[in-house]
Amino acid sequence: MIQPSGAGPVLTGATVEQLRTRLRGRVVCPTDALYDEARRTFNAAVDKRPALIVRCAGVADVVAAVKFAREHGLLVAVRGGGHNVAGNAVCDGGLVVDLSHMTAVRVDPVARTARAEGGVTWGVFDRETQAFGLATTGGIVPTTGIAGLTLGGGWGWLARSYGLACDNLLSADVVTADGDLLVTNRDHDPDLFWGMRGGGGNFGVVTSFEFRLHRLGQIFAGLLVFPLDRAHAVLRRYAELTSTAPGSLAVYGALVRLPDGRRVLGLRVCFNGSAGHGTKVVAALRDLTPIQDSIEPTTYGEVQAGGAVRYPFGQYHYWKGSFLSTLPDAAIEALLAQFAAAPSRHSQLVIEQLGGAISRTSPEETAFAHREAPYSLLILGIGETPDEYEAAASWVRNAWNAIRRFCPPGVYVNYLGGEADEGADRIKAAYGPVTHQRLAAVKQQYDPGNFFRLNQNIRPTAR
Ligand SMILES: Cc1cc2nc3c(=O)[nH]c(=O)nc-3n(C[C@H](O)[C@H](O)[C@H](O)COP(=O)(O)OP(=O)(O)OC[C@H]3O[C@@H](n4cnc5c(N)ncnc54)[C@H](O)[C@@H]3O)c2cc1C
Repeated sequence: MIQPSGAGPVLTGATVEQLRTRLRGRVVCPTDALYDEARRTFNAAVDKRPALIVRCAGVADVVAAVKFAREHGLLVAVRGGGHNVAGNAVCDGGLVVDLSHMTAVRVDPVARTARAEGGVTWGVFDRETQAFGLATTGGIVPTTGIAGLTLGGGWGWLARSYGLACDNLLSADVVTADGDLLVTNRDHDPDLFWGMRGGGGNFGVVTSFEFRLHRLGQIFAGLLVFPLDRAHAVLRRYAELTSTAPGSLAVYGALVRLPDGRRVLGLRVCFNGSAGHGTKVVAALRDLTPIQDSIEPTTYGEVQAGGAVRYPFGQYHYWKGSFLSTLPDAAIEALLAQFAAAPSRHSQLVIEQLGGAISRTSPEETAFAHREAPYSLLILGIGETPDEYEAAASWVRNAWNAIRRFCPPGVYVNYLGGEADEGADRIKAAYGPVTHQRLAAVKQQYDPGNFFRLNQNIRPTAR
């Protein structure tokens, strides 16, 4: 007997067996040796125990899993890359529709498009597309799933050149709450297609994504490291440079500790162009005599692969995210003061440069609501143990209280924590009032019963 949740229905062995016969993939139950591995996600602070994990092998399995959950009144979680810190990819009790084994990618080098299944990660996607010198905007860590990232918007090194991941989405196949498959694009179910580009996993299970690709030439990229006592001056220069920089340049700043414990400011630079042009563009930062400068001609594939080691699976994460409209001296001082109090060696403050092509798409075009923001701000509390996690989380909350006065309302939906911690207002702020209202209407049309509710949830209009 399997108890899906406290008040939920009881599943007999025979019922689970019935589900097994409907699948090409496998069902993982709490008694299986695989169970602990299958319920583990990126954030070690997430410790949930689903009743069933359906490791789907294809679209038919997704349809079968959704219909089974419906028949038995089970809470449903959807897992792509399993990277989201909020931990909505798994559930206590209930059924996980796990796409992590659906990892096929097909590239059409002539049409410059790629179709990728819902469990693909950016590492896999980049490997397949870079084989043809092609790429689209993706996340900067290879283990992140294309699904969650794209559905929430999705930025990375190429976003200032080519827009968000969701701006490069041409079509998506979606299994709805009724178990129907919809092929969505600008012409078919356009409202749903609009909502899925920023509205997260609220509308169904996306089994495959079709992206537009771009031909990439040389990339000029690497890391500049500055001692903390020069961080203020460097961040001031960063603010000047990023306010006028071309879209081909993206610079992310991070206040971090080196493995030897030294606190530093790191600027990770990615220029989408030749070394000759890039050298001139980044000169203003290099002039400030970094203690490390690894900027060199490279390829996009190499830049992306480098992201793997920085954020491994299995650490404890607590985040607060927001945006910055400008980076005045007072904000820089506040960031430095808060970083001085960071408790664990992994905790950090990150500024991601947005703008460029992101801001050139009109806000009505997709459900991503924060196109005007020039920077994203992340306060990352990261620990190796539950104790370190508690200290890191408390630091993040304090730092957020000190810094939030510099932040406009709004937060990136993909950087939100769990609903209980963030609160309904932050979730609404992630979509913005106008977009949220339109999303609620789309939710009402495609998922009126809120079957898909383990996400940054948009309640259907009528509720
Ligand atoms: C270390 C790290 C680095 C990151 N870097 C970036 C970055 O560079 N750029 C950026 O924009 N974001 C970044 N993010 C945030 C990232 O976009 C989100 O965590 C995103 O949700 C991850 O997608 P996933 O598929 O791996 O997540 P999951 O945890 O699998 O899914 C998250 C949610 O997305 C929905 N979902 C997932 N798959 C599907 C599907 N197939 N169909 C329907 N709904 C689905 C579900 O609601 C699920 O709860 C980063 C996160 C981490 C932890």
